[in-house]
Amino acid sequence: MTDDCITACPRCEADPQPQNFGSPRNCAFKRDRLADGSMLIVPSDYSFTPDNWQCATMTALIDAYDRDRKKVIYGHDESMNIIPCDPDADSDYGGWIVLTRYKSRGKVSSAVHVGDFYPPRPLTVALAEATITFLQRRQREDEQHARR
Ligand SMILES: [Zn+2]
Repeated sequence: MTDDCITACPRCEADPQPQNFGSPRNCAFKRDRLADGSMLIVPSDYSFTPDNWQCATMTALIDAYDRDRKKVIYGHDESMNIIPCDPDADSDYGGWIVLTRYKSRGKVSSAVHVGDFYPPRPLTVALAEATITFLQRRQREDEQHARR
């Protein structure tokens, strides 16, 4: 990571190096600093970068859909994942996240949002957080339904 790039996602900022980690997280969502020192984009739009390891937001997203695995489409070795976004969300947050990773080693190779109203684009922190909330809510609803 260079000085031009800073770690960005709130979850990584809150816990940059968990006790059991041998090295600090490398956030999957970075923002670029302009020559005048200002940031290129607003925090909610931090976009995915493949230079990452153990990003806390990515870990939370993967945990959320791993628990909800029957509704996620996996490739043969689970390196390819197609994750549903909230179907009731507005047009910015509907659609699917296509995510690739090698096993569970902490690196996400690609993360793209595919929806109806835009060309495919890099996953943002805001969409990742909205999807985590959606997946957790859906899992709670499924558990409540199963108990009836
Ligand atoms: Zn992060």
